[in-house]
Amino acid sequence: MILKLIIFAIVGLLLYKILGGNFLQIKRRSDEKKLDEDTLVECNRCKTYVTLKESLIVDGKYYCSKECIKKQ
Ligand SMILES: [Zn+2]
Repeated sequence: MILKLIIFAIVGLLLYKILGGNFLQIKRRSDEKKLDEDTLVECNRCKTYVTLKESLIVDGKYYCSKECIKKQ
């Protein structure tokens, strides 16, 4: 009876660790995604700040619009 309780406790602890680990990984992944899309980057031409998802990247440099790329 005591042995069953110990096994149950160990299984419960393992489940808690596995579920807790997965929860943290999911949370971290969603934070990274949010950071990527909403991070402000400076336009290499006009110095306007735009979010990463709105920016255009040419040769590793960020631009706010196609017009700024053409002016280069
Ligand atoms: Zn610009």
